[in-house]
Amino acid sequence: MPNNIMGCDTAAIQLNPVIASSFNAHYYEPIPSSRYLFRSDEFWRGLDRWKDIDAELFLNHLWQEKNAITSVAALGDLIKNRISTAFLRDIEEGHQLAPMSIRLTPYVLSLIDWDNPFLDPLRRQFLPLASEKLVDHPMLKLDPMGEQNDSPAPGLTHRYPDRVLFLATNVCPVYCRYCTRSYAVGLDTDVVTKQKINAPGERWEPAFRYIEANSSVEDVVISGGDAYRLKARQITEIGERLLDIPHVRRMRFATKGLAVLPMKVQSDHDWTDAISRLSDRARKMGKSIAIHTHFNHPNEITAITAKALGILYERGVEVRNQAVILRGVNNSKQAMHRLNECLAYLNVRPYYCFQGDMIQGVETLRTSICDSIELEKATRGLIAGHNTPHFIVDLPGGGGKRDIHSYDYYDKQLGVAVYRAPAVKKDKLFLYCDPLHALSPESQALWINPESRVQLLDDVLKSAK
Ligand code: SF4
Repeated sequence: MPNNIMGCDTAAIQLNPVIASSFNAHYYEPIPSSRYLFRSDEFWRGLDRWKDIDAELFLNHLWQEKNAITSVAALGDLIKNRISTAFLRDIEEGHQLAPMSIRLTPYVLSLIDWDNPFLDPLRRQFLPLASEKLVDHPMLKLDPMGEQNDSPAPGLTHRYPDRVLFLATNVCPVYCRYCTRSYAVGLDTDVVTKQKINAPGERWEPAFRYIEANSSVEDVVISGGDAYRLKARQITEIGERLLDIPHVRRMRFATKGLAVLPMKVQSDHDWTDAISRLSDRARKMGKSIAIHTHFNHPNEITAITAKALGILYERGVEVRNQAVILRGVNNSKQAMHRLNECLAYLNVRPYYCFQGDMIQGVETLRTSICDSIELEKATRGLIAGHNTPHFIVDLPGGGGKRDIHSYDYYDKQLGVAVYRAPAVKKDKLFLYCDPLHALSPESQALWINPESRVQLLDDVLKSAK
């Protein structure tokens, strides 16, 4: 047991002796295929601090959480001999401008190619660089969905007749730069003081009572933050309470955890058992429980992921993926197709591909509507239809999810699309703006000037009508 390794706080972790053997235990495993040989090397040993960490320790979720990196200083300490001083300064300065705080698991940190971090698709998702920051479109917001406008109880958003969003926590196993709840999730940053929107612990009761009293609610999304950070007893409490409500038919636990901390499924037996028990009970009641996860790039998938997803599949827990289209991460035909075929192989349904939300501070990651449509065209047909994700834009201002092609009007020159959502907000028009970097200098100037912007918006809305 390597509990004396410099820099790794292992002493306080009670290792479960079952963990090491469970890594090799018998459960569903995909039939080996040369197309799906997920990396199974001890890749974490490539970082000096973890070069003596064995698989037993690395595969323990408590060790992963204890050794998560939560500051630029700690990151620098970990990788300073792998990157230049200038690159570390670039991260420091990028972090000072970022709406999201830093939190990364050793799993993700070890998968980043530190010999080429600038282009690495995982680094781009989690670590900002000042040098890649691009000017924000003036229509961006920190809460582009306007979730707080439709909140009947703390931590609850009720926008669509049959479903609610229940924000049970405001913390995640990692923090993504492009989080749609940049205004609330994670710790305060230099540029954003986070709003308290979740309903922790005793504050769940008003949300439960609201759902009980509204018989139109059939579907509950439990999110945050991230359901991975809920303890097993909390998963059970929420799930059982909701299953006991006769009109609640479907539940979805939202978590990026499977992509960034997959070993938790193997080592946190209580958490996995809690989800499995709920799934079994739901099925016996004619209801359903699923995990909605969030893989964005095939590099996030390893043999550890395959084993975690195998356990869930064998236990009958349905897993669906919701990716976000991110520039320089997965906006290529190769990356998107590989992601979807790997997920399908592992029995995860590639359900949604979201257009990047109009969030402040991460323009370098957004694509234009027309580029995302081209991406959809390039990938559709490469894989069976039921495993082809819907390419979706979640409309700013609360119009809900629309097929990305379904705009009523799109001015590619000005980079603005107009959508309607008659079943959600009758007669209202919703705008999605392409990032400025996708536009000509002339179009950019029209958006940046406040007077021409007002005129431009007026003209666009008239044309759409
Ligand atoms: S895991 Fe989800 S909720 Fe958490 S930071 Fe990432 S996108 Fe936001």
